[in-house]
Amino acid sequence: MDTDTRAAAVARDRSDALAGFRDRFALPGGTVYLDGNSLGALPCATADRVARVVTAEWGRDLIRSWNVNEWMHMPTRVGDKIGRLIGAAPGQVLSADSTSVNVFKLAAGALRLRPDRRTVVSDRGNFPTDLYMVQGLSDLIGGRCELRVVEEGEVASAIDDTTALVMLTEVNYRTGWRHDMRKVTEAAHAKGALVLWDLAHSAGAFPVDLDGCGVDFAVGCGYKYLNGGPGAPAFLYVAKHWQDTLAVPLSGWLGHAAPFDFDLAYRPADGIRRQQCGTPPVLSMAALEVGVDLMLEADLAAVRAKSQALIDLFLARVEASCGEWGFRVVTPRDPAVRGSQVSIAHPEGFAIMQALIGRGVIGDFRAPDILRFGLTPLYVGYADVWDAVETLADIMRTGSWDRPENRRRGVVT
Ligand SMILES: *Cc1c(COP(=O)(O)O)cnc(C)c1O
Repeated sequence: MDTDTRAAAVARDRSDALAGFRDRFALPGGTVYLDGNSLGALPCATADRVARVVTAEWGRDLIRSWNVNEWMHMPTRVGDKIGRLIGAAPGQVLSADSTSVNVFKLAAGALRLRPDRRTVVSDRGNFPTDLYMVQGLSDLIGGRCELRVVEEGEVASAIDDTTALVMLTEVNYRTGWRHDMRKVTEAAHAKGALVLWDLAHSAGAFPVDLDGCGVDFAVGCGYKYLNGGPGAPAFLYVAKHWQDTLAVPLSGWLGHAAPFDFDLAYRPADGIRRQQCGTPPVLSMAALEVGVDLMLEADLAAVRAKSQALIDLFLARVEASCGEWGFRVVTPRDPAVRGSQVSIAHPEGFAIMQALIGRGVIGDFRAPDILRFGLTPLYVGYADVWDAVETLADIMRTGSWDRPENRRRGVVT
């Protein structure tokens, strides 16, 4: 594979079967957007769809829309579509709430399925909110659960017969390192523990096989690789065989067996609908559905293959053009153990990333020193990767990163 010339990168874009997807996104000119792992890009069809839901469905059909425009079915309809991206047969995925809230719901339910065990095992690579939610849950139930956070790679050996739940994010949000979902799930089950996977950096990034891996529970994000828009609803997965025994800690009316009977006593619905708490956010779910529909048009195996080729090109170019400035490659070289992002570390990472963003190459920074680039094959091409690394090299060569305006920190990095 020729990684030595920009012309070769352009040629690869020309013969790329996914290249046509780029025009389905409304990306600003002059920008290389490498942050789709944090906020996915805007699909062209989203604005019209949301406008239609606002004016025709909300404005004209008003409350009838819950029936005639099937608003009530949105959480399961969108959930089933997401299910096709993550290897879940219909009826097991619900679009609802935020990822954090879904972690809470499923972790609480899982603990009740293992009343004689009290440990939740996770690792230091997990996204903090997942850990925070279990810490809060533990406080709420008077410390009857204990969160054990171990080193990455030491999870399997930390699982024992006190483990109720193993809770992990499949792809490390900082390094891009990826767990072996099947292996960890099997290790947990062998000890009688349940598993909860966070797919925030998996769903829409590569094929996932929840049913095939025998996963119990999963959660994930709508606004990253699914391009659902800022604050898009998240999703959760509950394997069929757990659905009718899994208790819900947030027992809202729309998870009731018969919400419109308005019984005074809570009676949980059967099936995945039990996990719904309150009224779905129709406008943002409509936007999410556009992103999911677009992703469903793509061949996820091709998405996966291209994302790995983009990462390989990125790393080859960093080696060739940025070798002298002390960047450390953080993402594994082996495609089998990485997600769809590439990270490099540098002590001046924050200022360097600000300089890159100033030049139209948008990635992000994760403390203490990581420059993170999400490579999203539907709208990022080989020439984009080439240009991004050349811009990085230019910033380093000229020292243009070293300016006061690049050291100012906003609320979000
Ligand atoms: C982005 C992300 C979240 C975000 O959770 P919200 O509740 O949507 O803010 C959770 N987990 C992981 C692993 C993430 O990367």
